[in-house]
Amino acid sequence: MTKAILVLNAGSSSLKFALFEHEAASDLHLMAQGQIEGIGTKPYFLAKNHRKQILADKELAISDTNHADCLQIIATLLRDNYTDLKLLGVGHRIVHGGAHYTAPLRLTPGTIGALEALSPLAPLHQPHNLAAIRAVADIQPDLPQVACFDTAFHRCQNQINQLFGLPYHCYERGIRRYGFHGLSYEYVSSVLKQREPEIASGKVVIAHLGNGASMCAIQNGKSVASSMGFTALDGLMMGTRTGNLDAGVVLYLLQQEKLSILQVEELLYRRSGLLGLSGISSDMRVLLESSEPQAALAVDYFVHRISRELGSLAASMNGLDALVFTAGIGENSSIIRQRVCEQARWLGIEIDTHANDAHEFCISTIDSPTTAWLIPCNEELMIARHTRTQLGL
Ligand code: ADP
Repeated sequence: MTKAILVLNAGSSSLKFALFEHEAASDLHLMAQGQIEGIGTKPYFLAKNHRKQILADKELAISDTNHADCLQIIATLLRDNYTDLKLLGVGHRIVHGGAHYTAPLRLTPGTIGALEALSPLAPLHQPHNLAAIRAVADIQPDLPQVACFDTAFHRCQNQINQLFGLPYHCYERGIRRYGFHGLSYEYVSSVLKQREPEIASGKVVIAHLGNGASMCAIQNGKSVASSMGFTALDGLMMGTRTGNLDAGVVLYLLQQEKLSILQVEELLYRRSGLLGLSGISSDMRVLLESSEPQAALAVDYFVHRISRELGSLAASMNGLDALVFTAGIGENSSIIRQRVCEQARWLGIEIDTHANDAHEFCISTIDSPTTAWLIPCNEELMIARHTRTQLGL
């Protein structure tokens, strides 16, 4: 019998999964991974085993278009391919744990209700995360489920770093900087600690540069400040999200341009960022290959925002010992890493272009005063580890 932990990451139109084998006293091993994307429009199922062999690669019928149906499809695939599988539990990525949840949580009907109450804080993500929990409970009510929060890693930040300059009662009502991508930061920090403990005990900024992007100042493994704030909209410019924006712009759009609230939401979350500035694509690869001036402008602004946030985050720690890149752009684009490091020369970073082009672990020169690193993120493994701990395995 193969004992395993299933990890689910449910978004508005996607359901990602990863299956890890659990053996006592050893780390978890990836067995399979995949996703159904385009839920609600044109669902597509792609899944591979740990050897990257295809388990599923197909369009799904339009009727298979809610998270519960998609979960059934994934469960069937796993049962068909791993006949002696015994699921020990399911770990979920939950975007918001509010001010209260500072650690992963074993779910009960009561705690699911508490997480529902946080949905207004993340209306585009939380309801989908919770839909996956309910779908699992419907199929297998006795299977233990664990919530792992993207906000939890940041709850150790001091109050100054969680404040906005709003009346204090807003803070008390929960309008504060939460920070996100916490599972990525926790995983990347754990790898840095394992491989370079001295560096990890210092002042580190991790740049999570994916479609969603943020940066985090981390001192001695603990989150100090994050570029993302109340929602996953603040900070760096992203694939389709604005990043840092004068709140007066929102008022102007509503009052003078008479946009509806839904139109503003669409603009800020889905029509801005790399896509909006370039008018071409939200995909960094496409922009880097394009010869259009607008593509270059979008990339320039992306790098500029990273540089400004880096200065701000270094200031929040009174210094910087190391910069770490992770996620799709951070892991794969040597040119973006090079441009960020070149702009951070004033912070003591000297990039080793050969190491950077070869996507090595350390990408700064041997005598660079501040070091630079590349660590692939693995949020799924972090969730599986937390789930195992919560289940007492
Ligand atoms: P998500 O936030 O959806 O998890 P990812 O971490 O997968 O995002 O990152 C997606 C981004 O990574 C896209 O903008 C994509 O263009 C970019 N990316 C992936 N590979 C490369 C590459 N070789 N060069 C530049 N950008 C890349």
